[in-house]
Amino acid sequence: MNADLLVDLDQYRANLAALRTYAPSALQMAVVKANAYGHGMVPMARAARQGGADWLGVATPAEALELRAAGDRGPLLCWLAVPGAPFAELIDADVEVTASGVDQLQAIAAAGDRPRVQLKVDTGLSRNGAFGPQWDDLVAAAARLQEAGSIEVTGIWSHFASADEPENPSNDHQESVFRAAVDQLAAAGVDPGLRHLANSAAAVTRPSSHFDLVRMGIAAYGIDPDPAVHVPEVRPVLTARTVLANVKRVPAGASVSYGWRWTADRETTLGLVPVGYGEGIHRTASNRAEVGFDGNRVPVRGTICMDQLVVDLGDQPARIGDPVTVFGPGDDGEPTAQDWADAAGTIAYEIVTRLAGRWSRTYR
Ligand code: PLP
Repeated sequence: MNADLLVDLDQYRANLAALRTYAPSALQMAVVKANAYGHGMVPMARAARQGGADWLGVATPAEALELRAAGDRGPLLCWLAVPGAPFAELIDADVEVTASGVDQLQAIAAAGDRPRVQLKVDTGLSRNGAFGPQWDDLVAAAARLQEAGSIEVTGIWSHFASADEPENPSNDHQESVFRAAVDQLAAAGVDPGLRHLANSAAAVTRPSSHFDLVRMGIAAYGIDPDPAVHVPEVRPVLTARTVLANVKRVPAGASVSYGWRWTADRETTLGLVPVGYGEGIHRTASNRAEVGFDGNRVPVRGTICMDQLVVDLGDQPARIGDPVTVFGPGDDGEPTAQDWADAAGTIAYEIVTRLAGRWSRTYR
């Protein structure tokens, strides 16, 4: 094992339980797409069910089918299908699919016997979902197909653009567009079923957006949706750890890694950490990030490579094999995913979701 992701399933369940208190009357969906934000989809899905999540949510049909193949049987929604998606297989596997347009709704209706389907309205994110006249058409098609017994509409939902900026007026706008869309569906004779709009940030900052269900992604993994949306009740689930693969004492003037983008101005000890951008470590954090070593943070020096990075241990005693925490909850002096995000010029979501390649995962 060169490098391991330690995933604390008890903490994940505890986070989900703590997040319930923000939206006590709504159902809770645990979002486990993108390999559960790098944490490992199947074990996190299992833990979410044990932790009482009412629903699981994934983006792609392949993710939904992988969960079913792993034995998951509970309510499961997927929302990002392309033409040719295996709707029949999804329906057979009791996965609820999302329709973002009339063609997609018709393809879903044709793929099973009165499949359960949720409708996605674009309230302003301009990503997936039906917008404006497309939404009018989708409502009309849903009413027609439901009346004909070809589908069962079980939900209507949308997604915020700026939930991580609670004061942004776009949130009020999207919420009112959503309410109007719900009313429009009901007026067309279709019971809207489950209405949902909130992700983590909205769930914790905007009770008016809770409706019937909240979709919990990042906060359940114990990471704040944004430094401005701090969720004190949760704690990071994942610790990225490894050991020093090499240690060397170098003189002042020694330059480090590709391009010699850092040069020692004094004699120092360099430690070699055997993870790099092949493991999803952001190269843009070169010369900026830190890792945890022996209860302190030590700086990354020079360019982060494909398989390795170099840290400056100064005059600390260090030996090959000594533990290194790339990031974790921050309890033992190590940086957090948010610290790495700041160093890399990105968001903490990307730090964990990009974890890939040669990490092993240990669940406890
Ligand atoms: N709902 C949808 C449609 C999403 O795409 C996502 C993730 O991006 C979420 C909910 C969860 O969002 P968050 O991780 O901010 O809670």
